[in-house]
Amino acid sequence: MSDCLFCGIVEGRVKGDVVYRDESVVAFRDIRPQAPVHILIVPRKHVATILDLEANDQAVVGQIFLVIAKLAREQGIAESGFRVVANSGADAGQTVFHLHFHLLGGRHFSWPPG
Ligand code: 5GP
Ligand code: ZN
Repeated sequence: MSDCLFCGIVEGRVKGDVVYRDESVVAFRDIRPQAPVHILIVPRKHVATILDLEANDQAVVGQIFLVIAKLAREQGIAESGFRVVANSGADAGQTVFHLHFHLLGGRHFSWPPG
């Protein structure tokens, strides 16, 4: 989608601090980090929200979680712990409508979230 910010980063039309890419997944640093490590992991394919996932997206969702585990180890937060967040819709505060998983780590997080 040409007007989607994260499609722009995936396709290289928009500048992004990309830390991982493969044929189905791209990961880049959040522009307003909320923790020492704050990376967004997205499918290359434009999917707006979790609700828009289709049956043939199962593989890419699985790959996203493998990438999250790889990045958590590489970023040194596997042992200390980390949080994975996917905001979906208005109440969760989703602002970019290209499915993304936040990988947050490097500090303690409270629960429940605000
Ligand atoms: P959401 O609120 O939709 O779950 O998360 C969207 C995230 O995208 C926010 O954490 C926000 O800081 C990040 N973001 C917004 N615009 C940009 C951008 O242009 N580049 C990057 N790397 N992240 C962005
Ligand atoms: Zn998109």
